[in-house]
Amino acid sequence: MQVPKCPGQDRRYWKPEDIYEEECPNCGNILEFWKTDIRVRCEKCRRLVSNPRFDMGCAEWCAYAEYCLGDIAKGYGKPDSFLEKIRAAMEQILEGEALARLQRVLPVAEKLSAERGVQLLVIVIAACFQIIKESMDSSAAEKAIAELPGKAGLPRLVVEEAEQVLAELESGKLRSLPARMLHKALKLGGRRG
Ligand SMILES: [Zn+2]
Repeated sequence: MQVPKCPGQDRRYWKPEDIYEEECPNCGNILEFWKTDIRVRCEKCRRLVSNPRFDMGCAEWCAYAEYCLGDIAKGYGKPDSFLEKIRAAMEQILEGEALARLQRVLPVAEKLSAERGVQLLVIVIAACFQIIKESMDSSAAEKAIAELPGKAGLPRLVVEEAEQVLAELESGKLRSLPARMLHKALKLGGRRG
């Protein structure tokens, strides 16, 4: 049986600008993105890099997203349901002001991602990890961070990219677009206390 395809994924209709190059934010290696790539892994430094121009709309609305984009689309076919699961898991993990802070940060992250086309889930997960770290001692935070992906059923690659984005934030060198957006969302979401 032939796998159904949505016209957006059919390369016969692609234009030259649908394939483009970007620098790896970590090592400067040139990465080739196809417009349907959600993220690529840098061959030089192994960093996962989000496609800055990935069009979430297609995966979100196309009934055939799983066929079009493969397994990875499962994490993107219904972004809202992932956000709901993350919110529910975080409500068990955080309390008081830390939870209130998360609730201020998430709408900012959603708005920034919608404007800039960067993947929402990566930024949301990184923000959750960061707020967990801010609000508990390090061993409790480590445990909560290790448990969150299982509790919310998060795709592994998304979690890996979120960890890399958070590491950028912690190093103070905001080289990738998701890291800059995470920084902004956390800042606009207000500090504790
Ligand atoms: Zn690299």
